[in-house]
Amino acid sequence: MKKLNLIMFSMLMFAITSCNETSNEKKAENAGNPFFTEYTTPFQVPPFDKVDTSHYFPAFIEGMKLHQAEIEAIATNSDEPTFENTILAFDKSGKFLTRVSKVFFNLNESTTNDKMQELALKLSPLMSKHGDDISMNPKLFARIQKVYDKRNESGLDAQQIRAVEKYYEDFVRQGANLSAEKQDQLRKINEQLSTLSINFGQNLLEETNKNFLLIIDNQKDLDGLPESVITAAAETAKATGNEGKWVFTLSKPSWIPFLQYDKNRELREKIYRGYFTRGNNDNNNDNKKILAEMVKLRAERSKLLGFENYASYVISENMAKTTANVDAFLDKLMKAALPVAKSELAEMQKIADGEGANFKLQSWDWWYYAEKLRKAKYNLDESELRPYFSLDNVRDGMFAVANKLYGITFTKLTNLPVYQKEVETFEVKEADGSHLGILYFDYFPRDSKSGGAWCTDFQSSGWENGKKVDPIVSIVCNFTPPTADAPSLLNWDETLTLFHEFGHGLHGLFTTGKYNRTAGVVPTDYVELPSQVMENWAGEPEVLRMYAKHYKTGEAIPEALITKIKNSGMFNQGFETVEYVAASILDLDYHKLRSVDNLDVLAFEKASMDSIGLINEIIPRYRSTYFAHIFDGGYGAGYYVYIWAAVLDADAFDYFKKSGDLFNPAIAADFRKYCLSECGEDEGMAQYVKFRKQEPSQEPLLERRGLK
Ligand SMILES: [Zn+2]
Repeated sequence: MKKLNLIMFSMLMFAITSCNETSNEKKAENAGNPFFTEYTTPFQVPPFDKVDTSHYFPAFIEGMKLHQAEIEAIATNSDEPTFENTILAFDKSGKFLTRVSKVFFNLNESTTNDKMQELALKLSPLMSKHGDDISMNPKLFARIQKVYDKRNESGLDAQQIRAVEKYYEDFVRQGANLSAEKQDQLRKINEQLSTLSINFGQNLLEETNKNFLLIIDNQKDLDGLPESVITAAAETAKATGNEGKWVFTLSKPSWIPFLQYDKNRELREKIYRGYFTRGNNDNNNDNKKILAEMVKLRAERSKLLGFENYASYVISENMAKTTANVDAFLDKLMKAALPVAKSELAEMQKIADGEGANFKLQSWDWWYYAEKLRKAKYNLDESELRPYFSLDNVRDGMFAVANKLYGITFTKLTNLPVYQKEVETFEVKEADGSHLGILYFDYFPRDSKSGGAWCTDFQSSGWENGKKVDPIVSIVCNFTPPTADAPSLLNWDETLTLFHEFGHGLHGLFTTGKYNRTAGVVPTDYVELPSQVMENWAGEPEVLRMYAKHYKTGEAIPEALITKIKNSGMFNQGFETVEYVAASILDLDYHKLRSVDNLDVLAFEKASMDSIGLINEIIPRYRSTYFAHIFDGGYGAGYYVYIWAAVLDADAFDYFKKSGDLFNPAIAADFRKYCLSECGEDEGMAQYVKFRKQEPSQEPLLERRGLK
């Protein structure tokens, strides 16, 4: 997942009217507030050690005020509008606000507290108004329109023309052309949506990290669990005041192995129910009303802007172009995957029956019997793998892959301020030793961290006054933590996730381009190409031999185990495709609604899933009440993008493989140039074709998943 640019256009501008302190008083008041001065840290990283929660609000207010002054200056300029005095000036505006926003919004996801959550709610209407005051500023839009109208006869280069066109489209998409009355309606909707989305996320955080614990006091109930999982559960018990017992939580490294291995079926059901009822417990953290309201407001908003529904509003800007294209694409995948999932289920039922189980498998049985199936079919037990996938080895392997592809190197730093002591930092350098950027890693779950994994940045790559600004990228995960006995040992899914997020990181690090609006900015259904393509290398035998070494002995992974990993590549792919596509369809069904009244979320979800013939034994990868991607993450009407981009990444990797060299330097150089560095310079497909010399084929994806 990539945290989509927090301070993009839709959130900008707010008028401060009651600011009457003198500048000297203000200086004194904000002395020591690190957001009020340029950072003096190495590589100008944020001075996390100097940031106090009390610094944010005044910095936001100052940032919005400065930004508004910049916008006013552009809008009221008496000179004829030009690219420089309008588009470029706008593109470079809001620097102060961006500086504080990047720190606040990122830390609010990875290490929040009550005060920050309160502040997020307080800022939400202000930021929403700030954005609307810009996008609905008639003088500013009139100037942008003038530059736009003359863009082809003003001697602009291709990148300047593209920036003009993108900004013009943004303004129209944000309501610049609407009547004053409709703009008022839009402002109200934007404000409500922004608050609701924060409510959704905060509820989910409580439901995941605070409202559920599975406490076990009878050792027998641990039967089947690997030793490392038991140790971790004992440590969690200690940390939660349940010393001497074992505690499992709804963070992935805890509940997934429990479902895979614990023999107690009732307890498996209990923890899985805990997981899939998050946000749906009719308590203070219930998300049903919130998301119903969001769906309603998004439909209204899209209608105001002249679109049929929210899905067509979102997708019109994507590679897919129309909702019908996405529907057809997902439908084809569902038809291919559902029969495969059903046969996986039949095989698992056979195993259960053979063991004398007197029941039909349910959704909470899937992981448990899938493990048995993996063992029976491929003689592979996932816990056999973990010792070869210590976090350090996987990370170093991933660095080695990037080094072989692009020549870049990674040097661990110990002199940068971090926001949590376990955060790691690296300097990334080009092959010639020149500085490329900084990379942060924040690996393990915390109560103050949202679930999942994502890549974000504290500073995007860009240009300022003719000088390159270097990127500061951050990768945040929720991986299996170390225990007293062992370092962090990743499972296969976590290994792929680290490669995935690192791929987003490379996109951020390699981005070039002079204008913020176009540098590295790609359609959402392209965003997962840079990330997913990296996953392909993780499982190649040649690459596994490089990095998968036993954490104790340093011994390379046995060839037999590599063969097993390879053979089991299609394992559970029916299930994984179905649960993912089901969630994508649920997302689109909500966002295809044209008007919404008293939406009954649970009934709607059921009808949506029934309509695609989803079997009871599989629930969508995200149910409505914890579908953070779409209600708190910028992927609304866009959860499909992962599998859309999977066509691209499978095709791209196939290109490497068919060349006979996984690290083919010419292909790698083209991939970096067209798909990572310059990817924002033209439409997504155009950039892909520059790299691949032809359009992508769906075949490599279907083959990879065994769905042909
Ligand atoms: Zn991603």
